[in-house]
Amino acid sequence: MRSSTRAGASVRVLERTPFPRHHVGESLQPATTTLLDQHLGLGPELAAQGFAHKFGAVYVWGETREPWRVLFDPRLEADWQGLDEAGLLSGGYEHAWQVDRARFDDILLRAAAREGADVVFGAQALAPLLEAERVVGLRLRLPSGEEVEERADMVLDASGQGCLLGRAFGLQEPIVDLRATATYAYFADAGGVPGVLGRHVQLVITVPEGWVWFIPTSAGVTSVGVVNRGKERIRLDRFNEILAGAEALPLAGATRLPGPSPDQPLYFARDWSFTHRRFAGPGWMLLGDAACFVDPILSGGVDAAVRGGCDAALTVLRLFSEPDALSDEATLLEVYNERTRRDFKAYLRLARYWYGNNRSVEGLFWNAHQAIHADSLSTPLRAFIYLTTGQYAADQHLRVFQAWQEQNIFRSLGIDRDALRKARQRRPLP
Ligand SMILES: Cc1cc2nc3c(=O)[nH]c(=O)nc-3n(C[C@H](O)[C@H](O)[C@H](O)COP(=O)(O)OP(=O)(O)OC[C@H]3O[C@@H](n4cnc5c(N)ncnc54)[C@H](O)[C@@H]3O)c2cc1C
Repeated sequence: MRSSTRAGASVRVLERTPFPRHHVGESLQPATTTLLDQHLGLGPELAAQGFAHKFGAVYVWGETREPWRVLFDPRLEADWQGLDEAGLLSGGYEHAWQVDRARFDDILLRAAAREGADVVFGAQALAPLLEAERVVGLRLRLPSGEEVEERADMVLDASGQGCLLGRAFGLQEPIVDLRATATYAYFADAGGVPGVLGRHVQLVITVPEGWVWFIPTSAGVTSVGVVNRGKERIRLDRFNEILAGAEALPLAGATRLPGPSPDQPLYFARDWSFTHRRFAGPGWMLLGDAACFVDPILSGGVDAAVRGGCDAALTVLRLFSEPDALSDEATLLEVYNERTRRDFKAYLRLARYWYGNNRSVEGLFWNAHQAIHADSLSTPLRAFIYLTTGQYAADQHLRVFQAWQEQNIFRSLGIDRDALRKARQRRPLP
């Protein structure tokens, strides 16, 4: 028997893994907390976890090896040099969290249960049930091991990179130029960037092999990862060498914490970008990584998943609770489909643009990106402007960077000002 949510819908969530469970992707965007607070009232609970504040990001990326920053709050850009840490943390400046995903994801799933969803741990979705062209439910394996068929008016696929429906329907498309892998570990007692921002930002440093992330997730723990080309795990000695070569990485005196298992000192994730030819159809919708995944450089994956969740939920509510001329299924699903596609393309262009504009370090990884994107500067440049000037989305929360941040970003990435001016005069991207 399914329980009923606030909106009167019967919702069953199938989660095959026992929670809390480890997950990569710890550096969030401010809009994610806003959405979670608006819809689920989770702001205070998230604030009480001891997660690290993220007031922005510091990059060693672009024209020179000089670190530069993008802060979320324009007031902080003006104030930060005169602040101490207490002033920074109590100043009400816009910020995101950098989180232990095991705990963060657990909070979200428990919130879903509190809202009335029937969350079944250990239940694995196996395949869609089809009637003609319509998905009418799922075949699933219950925690007992029994396989059953369950019908539903709508199946939302949030299976992450498992991409249950996308694979079943053969819809997946890889983004070959953004193929990479990530090898990472957690450290105790790491430092932070110089000055008051300290451990309250994300740090990203280019290295010849690719780039390194440094993400404090609490006062004591820091996630550090290497993103590079190739399919293979980096071995520990190589990992250490790469970190030692990343100047400005504040790991002096830090201790690496144990890895996923005694024989695996490092964590590993494939971060191959991909999309699907469609994101919705009769009886089904894809969201989060199950819809698409764009390279982690912009730390937008969780935000996209949360927004996709809100968007899909609102679409379902509209479909089943407000029957009117505008709410026929095909129209609503097409709106969802197009919006997901548009968001994906904008993120993809911005990620390509970001990679295409690092000239301060050479290496196989970077040569490949320069070769791919050197001739197409105007397109990602236009994408960047499209994103930053708000042409991208009617919803303000979809903007990755604000207009006031762009001068600093352009300067640091070494953008040609004439190209920028010309690109501004062109029509926005479709
Ligand atoms: C190297 C790397 C670094 C990243 N860094 C960041 C970052 O800093 N910030 C950021 O925002 N994002 C980051 N991301 C992206 C982020 O991890 C994902 O975009 C985000 O976790 C997607 O959330 P999701 O809910 O769609 O999928 P997931 O978080 O993967 O959740 C999917 C869930 O579905 C369950 N599941 C899967 N298949 C089934 C099935 N058949 N039946 C039942 N349950 C199933 C899984 O157990 C899992 O719990 C990074 C990604 C990578 C690869």
